Amino acid sequence: MKMILLGPPGAGKGTQAEILSRDLNIPTISTGNILRAAVKAGTPIGLKAKSFMDAGKLVPDEVIIGIIQERLAEADCKNGFILDGVPRTIAQAEALEQHGITFDHVISLEISDEAIVKRMDGRRVCAHCGAPFHVESKPPKAAGVCDLCGGELMERDDDKPETVRARLEVYHQETEPLKEFYLKRGTLDVVPGDLGTIEDTTRAIEKALEASH
Ligand code: AMP
Repeated sequence: MKMILLGPPGAGKGTQAEILSRDLNIPTISTGNILRAAVKAGTPIGLKAKSFMDAGKLVPDEVIIGIIQERLAEADCKNGFILDGVPRTIAQAEALEQHGITFDHVISLEISDEAIVKRMDGRRVCAHCGAPFHVESKPPKAAGVCDLCGGELMERDDDKPETVRARLEVYHQETEPLKEFYLKRGTLDVVPGDLGTIEDTTRAIEKALEASH
């Protein structure tokens, strides 16, 4: 199973990717998590990416394409993978195709901009492993501590309301056209990202995955 989770920031891609990854026994690849780790470690890629991320802009395609190509070549991707937050531009999607990487399913998680701005306020991520939490809809078992690795939970710098609005604008301009791109390839399914509980959304995604295109 090779799949993409598309959708605006805060749609629940990371949360759903974590569940699907466990259920399907395939890795999740989040370029956002890879970049945040690179920024934290102060690597050349991290230094290059930081100003774009802080401004809510996209990191240049050539940086992302290099990261994703390298990651997909690792052994654990052999039986499939879930891409979370990549591709984010038509150029990234075309680069993947040029490298012979195609997808069985592209799930577009949809939610209104207003709901996202509200949601982002309560979002927390693990500073160590990147696992996503939310103070209301997905609280950790112990306040401020990651359930998975015991790492410290933090608010993302780019979850400030003004940066969220910038990221939503970028999403509509640069990433949303990917829906048309994958619709033409017959792999797109649209799933509402605000159906109710996290489990309700997982069930809707699983239903879409069961249908063959
Ligand atoms: P995310 O965790 O997916 O919301 O990504 C956080 C930030 O990392 C984004 O706002 C971008 O600045 C950068 N980023 C992550 N993935 C990509 C990508 N595929 N293309 C360009 N920039 C990305």
